[in-house]
Amino acid sequence: MDFKEPSTLFDIAIQCLLHHEPLAIQALQEIPGELFVPLFTAALKGRHEKILSAMVKSWPFFCLHVGPLSMQEAQPTLWKVMVESLFPAENPAFRSPKLRILDLTQHPGCKTKCPVITTTCKPCVRCCAYSERSLMKVESQCSSSSSESEGQSPKTTMELLVSLSFDRSFRENEFFALLLSKVEQSLGSLHLCCRDLRIKNLSECRSALSHLDLKCVSHLAVVEASLISVLSLLEQAVNLDSLSLSKITCRSFNGRTFRNFLSQLRCMDHLKELSLSSFCLTNHLEHVLRVLSADLDFLQLPFCELSHNDFKFLSQCPQASHLKLLDISNNSICWEDCEPFYCLLENLSGSLQHLAINHCLLTDATLSILAPALSHCSHLRLFSFSSNPITMPMLRRILEYLTPMAQLKYVIYPIPMHCYERWHVRCTLDAQKVADVNAQLKILLQEAERDDMCWITYTG
Ligand SMILES: [Zn+2]
Ligand SMILES: [Zn+2]
Repeated sequence: MDFKEPSTLFDIAIQCLLHHEPLAIQALQEIPGELFVPLFTAALKGRHEKILSAMVKSWPFFCLHVGPLSMQEAQPTLWKVMVESLFPAENPAFRSPKLRILDLTQHPGCKTKCPVITTTCKPCVRCCAYSERSLMKVESQCSSSSSESEGQSPKTTMELLVSLSFDRSFRENEFFALLLSKVEQSLGSLHLCCRDLRIKNLSECRSALSHLDLKCVSHLAVVEASLISVLSLLEQAVNLDSLSLSKITCRSFNGRTFRNFLSQLRCMDHLKELSLSSFCLTNHLEHVLRVLSADLDFLQLPFCELSHNDFKFLSQCPQASHLKLLDISNNSICWEDCEPFYCLLENLSGSLQHLAINHCLLTDATLSILAPALSHCSHLRLFSFSSNPITMPMLRRILEYLTPMAQLKYVIYPIPMHCYERWHVRCTLDAQKVADVNAQLKILLQEAERDDMCWITYTG
């Protein structure tokens, strides 16, 4: 069957409508609900601000998830237009809005609107489940109080789901100012629900944070802070799926702050992703991992100054036995005893999809020992081992190991040592030799019939 022709006609009709803005806005009153999603998608792509604004005002569904559709460069202006369109004044030009959840986050796992399922009490997959100001909690309070005093209609409550990034310039952030003014305008009926929060320079962001309910945050990233100041955040952000701490200072691993940090990690039952970067944990990784649940998917530990003991523990602990992503880059690993890492790869062979061991002083001898275990990781999609002192014969050999791995699509490889006059001193790099290496790898990939595999390197 050929579906191409009708869909093309449909697209033409949508484009026609978009190019007649007043007509499109007027049509929103009459067009069937099913046309809203394709029209909204096209309006977003074409950046038709007025139509987008009108569509939010008359959206005929419970929720609108913009994330799956949005394009990076278009976001700030278009998001502003959409937020400004919330709580419109009564206007007969728009059909009465049903929108209760506007989701501007980048969550990939949902469609533009949730299907109506009457068997579940949750009308939207992204409903806030934690805040006292969430739509579900406010409505359940309203319905219980209105059953006591009949005749009072509950106030229209809404949720606005956002990702926020606070750094030194957030004070000038027009978008955040707009969010706060909308919350104020709503007189308590708009719940600003921040799901992804990134903070750089925590001490300057305290006032902004006071406007948020940190219970809602599922992804938290903090850069450059002391562990004691991070603790005050973690006390409130108790529902994290993902925690990323980078450049965090901790005075002592024997002190109360570190112990409190561990107790807070222990309470994070949902935590799936942990990233600790530039966080000196030498001989203390065990303490951190032990308190976590055994369901960890992502573990990133770059620049953590991990010791051989840390690796030994990593290879044995149940918390790191189902990882999908492991990044141990930029640690000076003692490869004289490869066994812990070999065992770790064997343990992860059924789950690992992404492995990064860049800049870890990995040599030919070590890699040849690890290669068989690596080739058992049948789900591996990305393998990155750049900036390691490897020779060209070893690179060829590792390619032979990796090309039969059907899932593996991306390999980030180290520039072989012979391309440098002095290894890893960038100014001594011979560009011609690097080009020859690339050409050789290309031929080898063609011979192995793996044109779908992408081998890249960094020369910078
Ligand atoms: Zn939804
Ligand atoms: Zn919330």
